[in-house]
Amino acid sequence: MLSLKELLAVRQKPYDEKRVAFISKAYYFAQKAHEGQKRMTGEPYFVHPVETAKTLIKMGLGSNSIVAALLHDVPEDTDLTLEDVKKEFGKEVAFIVEGITKVGQIRLRGATDEIYLENLRKMFLAMAADIRVVLIKIADRLDNMKTLQVHSRVKQISIANETMEVFVPIANRLGVGEIKNQLEDLAFKYLKPVEYKDTVRRSEEALNVRAKYTKRAIKELQKALKQEKIEILNIVGRAKHYYRFYQKLLKHEMQVAEIYDLSAIRIIVPTVEDCYRVLGIVHQQYNPMIGRIKDYISLPKPNGYKSLHTTIFGPEGKILEVQIRTREMDYEAEYGIAAHWVYSGDRSFKDMLFRRKKEELNKQLDWVKQLRSWHEETGGLSDDFWGSLKIDFFKNHIFAFTPLGDVIDLPEGATPVDFAYAIHTEMGDTLSGAKINQRIVSLDYAIRNGDVVELITEKKKKAPNEDWLKFAKTTHARSKIKQALRKNRSNF
Ligand code: MN
Repeated sequence: MLSLKELLAVRQKPYDEKRVAFISKAYYFAQKAHEGQKRMTGEPYFVHPVETAKTLIKMGLGSNSIVAALLHDVPEDTDLTLEDVKKEFGKEVAFIVEGITKVGQIRLRGATDEIYLENLRKMFLAMAADIRVVLIKIADRLDNMKTLQVHSRVKQISIANETMEVFVPIANRLGVGEIKNQLEDLAFKYLKPVEYKDTVRRSEEALNVRAKYTKRAIKELQKALKQEKIEILNIVGRAKHYYRFYQKLLKHEMQVAEIYDLSAIRIIVPTVEDCYRVLGIVHQQYNPMIGRIKDYISLPKPNGYKSLHTTIFGPEGKILEVQIRTREMDYEAEYGIAAHWVYSGDRSFKDMLFRRKKEELNKQLDWVKQLRSWHEETGGLSDDFWGSLKIDFFKNHIFAFTPLGDVIDLPEGATPVDFAYAIHTEMGDTLSGAKINQRIVSLDYAIRNGDVVELITEKKKKAPNEDWLKFAKTTHARSKIKQALRKNRSNF
């Protein structure tokens, strides 16, 4: 387990004294709360919140988020309550921890229907209400995926499936590429074990064959760039991701030789201008492959990704991909949130964006600028910044469950009457009462996000009450009520 000192050292730029004290307090508080508890792996339970916090420190989150990550399982799994957390660590931390507990109750329940899944993802984001909650949940899931071997095969498949269907798409939308790839690879391993093994073997083989010229190309390029006095911040053979490799194999009918970017060289330089200069130098050194030069700096990908890509005939004429970008672009590709949040290529998400007012959209775009300048100035992001990234895309939406776990998407202020008509007309017409989270409520009750709504019907009931028109919110429910009332009158 990482000691407090080791955990704090994960951050490139150290936290100030006040923040160190705050994180230390949470570290020892959570350690004590989980004392004596063990994970299924046999390690102390506290390893889990520490690993979760570590991922978030890597992502550059502020001290409130790190404190919340350390405490995230305290109310759920120990004798201490959310009130205790609030008393010791304040309202903001308690708010984040509460969000994590709430979101933790959402379960996939073996669903495969794409509309249902999309609603589930939306609900997850809506309930989280704060982007930090989502990021902590993602880090939490990453650690749980890393220790999935302790569970039964049935449980492994169910958790891996949920990871692939809910967490991977959300991580992708938030642009946390590095975490998304890790989650995807871990889920792949459990969901398709045979294909996974085969992909690992093919990938290792191919990388071994290519490692020699990748290394040589890196050396030759370093020399050429030095001569041109270009400062290289980093140059690496890019990490491999099995699931992405597997998808490319499928696309290219399992022909490894056709996958040029299996081993890419990534060059990080200080400025955009340097990027283009490096591209020129790379092309002087090696012949580029026609049609494979991609300028994602001038024309970023729909999810905001920026970089220059080129495929070259490297040492001994072997094909290699080279990626050139600045540190900010590199950071955004791995952990950048706001940029991807705004430019997300995901269609349904975009549709939602388009429904928003233009000013709001511009405000979102300001985040991107702010994010960039904060990267430049501080090399990390403050709590204020993360706090301001509230999830309000779903402001006018609520998501409620049926007792069987189906998600119903409703407008804000919707009532059990709207809920009933959203399920089935007959359900609405025969409605006589409702329970929310197992408590009886009146039919004009405003449903809240995450409520479980149970409807009580009366088979003999002939028509809805006229009163319902006073509070039913959806057009669908209102027109069904009017229709049923008309029909009922004409029957007399
Ligand atoms: Mn946890």
